[in-house]
Amino acid sequence: QELRHMVSDDWVRRNWDVSQELGSGAFSTVKLGVRTKQGSSEALPAGLKCAMKMIDKRKFLSFQSNRSSGLTLNDEANLMTSLQHPNIVSCLEWFQTEIHIYLALELVRGGDLLHNLMEGGCLTEMQAVRIFRQICDAVHYIHVTVKLVHRDLKPENVLLTNKDRDTMVPKLADFGLARVNMKSMDCKTFCGTPQYFAPEVINSAKDSNLGYGKPVDMWSLGVNLYIMLCGVPPFEDEGLYQQIVQGNWQFDVPQFSQVSEEAKDLVRKLMTVNPRERINIQQALNEPWLRIAEIADFATP
Ligand code: ADP
Ligand code: MG
Repeated sequence: QELRHMVSDDWVRRNWDVSQELGSGAFSTVKLGVRTKQGSSEALPAGLKCAMKMIDKRKFLSFQSNRSSGLTLNDEANLMTSLQHPNIVSCLEWFQTEIHIYLALELVRGGDLLHNLMEGGCLTEMQAVRIFRQICDAVHYIHVTVKLVHRDLKPENVLLTNKDRDTMVPKLADFGLARVNMKSMDCKTFCGTPQYFAPEVINSAKDSNLGYGKPVDMWSLGVNLYIMLCGVPPFEDEGLYQQIVQGNWQFDVPQFSQVSEEAKDLVRKLMTVNPRERINIQQALNEPWLRIAEIADFATP
């Protein structure tokens, strides 16, 4: 199992030219990869570009044993290769050496949503609804079709196909923390990124019996939508956890005076403290505000 897709460093060099860095995370680096002439095939022709995610196995394992998450080394690769959705980064192939796991990912060229929001400020409501709708389509696919929790939904992990806000297509990336979730509440690992933590994630760090499931992704979607609509996060960094568990957030950014009640209503239903009262992805997709996306789609050339 652990040795599947094992190759030599030499094999990697013969099949892929890996060069310029595209980004990095806690235990991975992502670089531009180009399929070599020598390694080309019908499926992966010479010159084919990818985003090569290289996961440092040793760093990953020490991180995981600290958190006893139950994740194993090959989980992300196995998951990524099984997912197929227009709004999820696809995986062309994966392999491993002694040191690294390599994921040859679909190259997404427009940067991530966080940088886009930092550079250009918040989106217009029409831009937000079109992009958020597609992110929700991806979440519907992972929650309902493949029965998975992503656990790390944040703007850094939403990649964009280009920089034009009226046409860009969002693609969900980074399934490094995702796990298969058949029962409703069985993830007990304290993970993700603080600003997007659901209240029950914070509570489960104190009381490990609480656990958490798909609703954590719904909360994070609410935080994402809040940021897309106004350009800033809903919580202050100081006393962050307390604000989250108390649901202590407001539409207190001036931009919200321009935002429709329907959009705010969806944020409220997503950022509901009690996970049992929070809406699920099917309900979110049926919300009036997200139905506008069908009209917005219609208006896109
Ligand atoms: P980590 O698990 O370490 O957070 P990510 O999968 O989030 O790694 O990738 C880290 C960064 O690399 C991303 O924020 C992005 O900038 C870049 N990146 C990742 N995947 C792609 C891709 N498919 N296309 C282009 N850039 C990517
Ligand atoms: Mg990431």
